[in-house]
Amino acid sequence: QPVIGVLALQGDTEEHLRVLRGIGATAVPVTAPGELDQVQGLVLPGGESTTMSKLAVRYGLLDPLRKRVRAGLPVYGTCAGMILLADRILDGTADQCTVGGIDMTVRRNAFGRQTESFEGAVDIDGVDGGPVDAVFIRAPWVESVGAEVSVLGRLPADGGAAGRIVAVRQGSLLATSFHPELTGDARIHRLFVDIVKGTA
Ligand code: GLN
Repeated sequence: QPVIGVLALQGDTEEHLRVLRGIGATAVPVTAPGELDQVQGLVLPGGESTTMSKLAVRYGLLDPLRKRVRAGLPVYGTCAGMILLADRILDGTADQCTVGGIDMTVRRNAFGRQTESFEGAVDIDGVDGGPVDAVFIRAPWVESVGAEVSVLGRLPADGGAAGRIVAVRQGSLLATSFHPELTGDARIHRLFVDIVKGTA
């Protein structure tokens, strides 16, 4: 049984821990480099990406995070966590840094005022049983991806922000613009646990 960490600097850490434990995973909060060493997978929660990256620097976690991701640690980022996994960001703050790892450009707060928060049904490749109920809160979208990145989900073609990319995977790195930890639908967390186990 792999140990899955949830970065616990800021954001909705508790919700991720609850969902992971609910599906039988061993999940622990991570606030220090020594704790990061103990995990076989990591979730970067939703919250505020600028605050989270500043705290990661202050807690001495940014470089260890970058190293582990480069060494192949499976990571799942939701919303702010997706921003942290992006190699490039648009509309970040001047000094905003990321962990990186996914060859994608992510636009922060992409949906603008009208749709700062909304909910919608999104089909996710590799997730069976119908669309996921996706909650977007001041969410980013993925503006463009490199050749190694698989697009797993897009907004429907007939709504606002039609066809925008909101779920991606590159190797064992997974990211969604939305927050499955808030809806009680554990299917994407299950997919991530399978990625950590090497079975997905
Ligand atoms: N807008 C936030 C950011 O830039 C992300 C919001 C979220 O995680 N719900 O980090």
